[in-house]
Amino acid sequence: MSIRVRFAPSPTGHIHVGNARTAIFNYFFARANNGVFILRIEDTDLERSTLESEQIIYEDLQWLGLDWDEGPLKGGSYGPYRQTERFDIYNRYTMELLKKGLAYECFCSKEELDASREKSMRDGVQPIYNGKCRGLSNSEKEDLKNKGIRPSIRFKTVDRDVVVHDIIKGDVTFPTNVFGDFVIVRPDGVPVYNYAVVIDDALMKISHVIRGDDHLSNTPKQILIYEALGFDIPHFAHIPMILGPDHSKLSKRHGDTSLNLFKEKGYLPEALFNFMTLLSWSAPDDREILTKDETISLFSLDKVSKSPAVFDFAKLKWMNGHYIRNLSKDQLAERVKPFLHISDDFKTKYNDRIADMIFSIKDKIEFLSEADDWFKVYTSYPEAIEDEGMEFLKLPTTKDLFELFISYLKPLKTLELEKYKEIIHEIQSSKGVKGKALFMALRVGITGTTKGPDLDKICTLLYPDDIITRLKKSLEKIC
Ligand code: GLU
Repeated sequence: MSIRVRFAPSPTGHIHVGNARTAIFNYFFARANNGVFILRIEDTDLERSTLESEQIIYEDLQWLGLDWDEGPLKGGSYGPYRQTERFDIYNRYTMELLKKGLAYECFCSKEELDASREKSMRDGVQPIYNGKCRGLSNSEKEDLKNKGIRPSIRFKTVDRDVVVHDIIKGDVTFPTNVFGDFVIVRPDGVPVYNYAVVIDDALMKISHVIRGDDHLSNTPKQILIYEALGFDIPHFAHIPMILGPDHSKLSKRHGDTSLNLFKEKGYLPEALFNFMTLLSWSAPDDREILTKDETISLFSLDKVSKSPAVFDFAKLKWMNGHYIRNLSKDQLAERVKPFLHISDDFKTKYNDRIADMIFSIKDKIEFLSEADDWFKVYTSYPEAIEDEGMEFLKLPTTKDLFELFISYLKPLKTLELEKYKEIIHEIQSSKGVKGKALFMALRVGITGTTKGPDLDKICTLLYPDDIITRLKKSLEKIC
C-alpha cells in the first residue's frame, strides 16, 4: 500500500502545539514509510479563515522544519489543496447522495431546530434531529424553495453501531442514534467539516488519517459517508491530547502554546520539534535527544501511547538549552543576533568579536531572547550598581586595584589571554589581593554587576579603552 498522510489545519491563526504535534507525527509516519506528506487547508469556516492565517501556517511549518510534499505552494496531482477551491467537487457528491436517497434537503429554520433541541434537553433525551423533512414530497420542497427558503442537506442515518478501528485506541463503537441525521451542507452551500474531509481524504488517496483524539467522535459520521459514497475507508490513528502541567487540557493559561510565541522567545525549532516528538511517542530505547533522521528510522505508530501527554515546560527549556549548547560559535551567533539590541557604534567597533561574546554567554541561556540581557555586560555599564556589587567596590583594596589595572591596560590596543593572566598574576603577587577581592571587584568595576560570563572573556573581548572608561566610572562611585 502506498502511504499518504495529511495535515489539515484550518487557517484561523498561528499553529497550536497540539496541531503541530499532529503534523509532526504525520510527517514522521510518512518519512518512515516512504510515504507522502500532504498539506491541506481546511478553510470552509468562511468567517474565521483568512488568507493571512494561511500564510502564517506556511511560515510556522517552514520555521519548524516540516516540509510537505504536496499541497499549497508545492502543487501535486490531487489538488486543489484548499477546500474553498473544491466546492464543485463536493457538489457533485452531494448530488449523488441526494439522487440515491442517502441524503435529503432540510428546510427547518434555526429557531425550529433550537426549540426542538431545547425540548429534548428538557425531556432528558438525546437532542437529535426529529426527521421532519425526511419525507417531504417534491412539490412540498418546491413550495418551500419558492418561498425563498434555502435548504441544508442532511445525511440520512440508519440506526446501527459504527465501529472505528483505531490503530492507537483499538476498536471503538458508536451507536448512530447519538447523532441522528446530521447536516453535511449548510444552507449557503458550504460543506461541513465532517463531509468535506471525507471527500478530500478519499480523493487525495489518504491511507492513514492521523489526528488529535478530539476528532474520534467525528469518525463514525465520516465512516457513514465513506460507505455511502463507496470510498475505501482509510486507517485511523487518533493521538491522545496534550495536557498542561496541572493535567487539564493544555491552553493559553498554562503558558505559551502557539508556535509563534516559542519562536519569539527564541526556542530553536529543532529543540521544539524533538520535544513535541516525545509527546505521547517514545523511542524504543527511551532516548530523549533525537535528531529528525534518528526519529524517522525509529518512528512507528505502535509506540504512540494511549494516554495523554503532559506538556512539561521545564523539560522543554532544558532541551532547548541542550540544543543551544550544542551549536557551534557561528551557528549560535547567527541565531542570537536577531534577538540582540545593539547600537550601530558597538557593531562597528566590535563586529569581529560579537560571535565570541555571544559564545561566552551560551551556558547562561535556555532560550535565545535571554541573551540580550546577558549581552549587556559587553554593551553597557549600568547607571546604578546594586548593593551586592557596591560591596566589592567599597573594599579597601579596590581603588588601588583598579588604578593598577588601568595602568597595565593603558599601553595596550587589545588584551590577549596570556597577557591578561600575566597582569592578574602580577597584581596578585605585588598587592596580595586575591579571590573575590580581586576577581569580583574587577568584574563589578568593568560590568557593574556581579553576574556574567568568565572574567577573562570579558577582559579579552572588550577593548582596553572601554575597560578603562568603565573602571574610571566605577572609581567615581567609590570616592
Ligand atoms: N481542520 C481540522 C482541524 O484542524 C482537521 C481535522 C482532521 O485532521 O481531520 O482540526
